[in-house]
Amino acid sequence: MSLRVKLTLALLITSLSGVLIVAVLVQRGTINEFDSFVMEQERANFIADMAAYYEAFGSWEGMRMARGRLPVQPNGEPPVQFSPEDHGPIAKFTLVDQDGKVLTPNKDVAPNEVIPAAELKKAAPIVVEGETVGYVLTNDEFPQRDALEEAYLDRINRMLIMATVSVLVLGLLLSLFFARSLSRPLREIAQAIRSLSHGQLDQKVPVRSRDEVGQVAAAFNQMSADLVKANQLRRQMTADIAHELRTPLSVLVGYLESLCEGLLKPNPARFKIMHDEARHLQHLVEDLRTLSLADAGELQLNAQWIAAEELIRLTAAAFSHQAEQQGIRLAVEAEPNLPLLHADPDRIIQVLSNLVSNALRYTPQAGCITLAARLDGDVVLSVQDTGAGIEADHLSHIFERFYRVDTSRQQSENESGLGLAIAKSYVELHGGTISADSQVGVGTTISIRLPVSRLEKDAA
Ligand code: ATP
Ligand code: MG
Repeated sequence: MSLRVKLTLALLITSLSGVLIVAVLVQRGTINEFDSFVMEQERANFIADMAAYYEAFGSWEGMRMARGRLPVQPNGEPPVQFSPEDHGPIAKFTLVDQDGKVLTPNKDVAPNEVIPAAELKKAAPIVVEGETVGYVLTNDEFPQRDALEEAYLDRINRMLIMATVSVLVLGLLLSLFFARSLSRPLREIAQAIRSLSHGQLDQKVPVRSRDEVGQVAAAFNQMSADLVKANQLRRQMTADIAHELRTPLSVLVGYLESLCEGLLKPNPARFKIMHDEARHLQHLVEDLRTLSLADAGELQLNAQWIAAEELIRLTAAAFSHQAEQQGIRLAVEAEPNLPLLHADPDRIIQVLSNLVSNALRYTPQAGCITLAARLDGDVVLSVQDTGAGIEADHLSHIFERFYRVDTSRQQSENESGLGLAIAKSYVELHGGTISADSQVGVGTTISIRLPVSRLEKDAA
């Protein structure tokens, strides 16, 4: 049974039982209320008549004599005949005098029978000039309705049936509508999930409402979009890796074939070339491994308390020789009394080293590279160069994997375009951020923001 049928049935059964219960209660209630209303009115009339009689004659004597027949009425009209079979007012009510003696007998009570005081308490008194002169007992018998009253109740019943039927029709229409509006988006999502599992990742279902079902649809669309993106990234990554591996491998294979076939003579220079290519491959594989660990959230940090100044000094020292050879000035500028960082010094130095080696690559002779550390809420480590700079179009991509501004140039220099992507992973692992700022022809600054714990901030 589909969800739609189930929902329709559930809603229909609920409304049906509700309507039926209400209809039966209203019908019963109306009949009871109607009967007691009619009875009340008749009794009030009867009491008024009897009080008028007593007032006119000053006693019940005439009534007693009549023994079940109403004598001359107070207004002078002829006596009303009645017998116990009569359904007129007298059969419904029994008149008794102030002592409880029956004045109008019927099939239940004999003339002059005395009604016990306990029962009189329940009877309606007839009061004339402030004095109780008698009582009216209401007979328990079911009151007979006249044709007019029956017609009235019939009309009420018919209206109740009509109301029940119209509520049912309305209920059916509404439940069909609700069931449809609920099951339709779910069916669409189910269909999209099936397509997704068959490999069509790009699925979009319409979001028809803001309720939970709508939220599920929106979340599904988001998931589908994310899957498409992840799939694209994976494909791109595989293509990039294959591309990166091809060049050094073909160089190696080419040399090795020529050496095997004796076309080339082995010499140290050729071995050095082959060694460089092998080293490049090794480097690439290590970088890829680092990135895959970062993706899996499995990069480990060996954090310790360390001064920012020490980190930049150690990095600068490692590159001082190379900078000197290239005729580039390597400066270190650290603000005094910086708070200690809780960081993995090896990783941070690895990040800084990539930044400095990038800077050395793009800075001409007589240029300057500045490693700085300062406090700006967080500790900011920066590497600034006076190199070629990066165009704005490229700047936003340099932290992406395998991204190189000038592909041809770096290919020859064995750069893979993974350095900044790894730097970003490491910095984020420390809870920090990395950003680039550059002006073509002026230089580039890469800044690393590392958070300082509250304790350390206060100490500073
Ligand atoms: P790898 O670091 O993996 O050996 P790479 O240095 O080419 O290779 P990244 O360090 O990620 O890769 O840098 C990405 C690209 O950003 C570089 O190829 C270069 O084009 C550009 N770039 C990085 N730093 C600078 C800089 N200081 N000045 C100019 N361009 C830069
Ligand atoms: Mg680099």
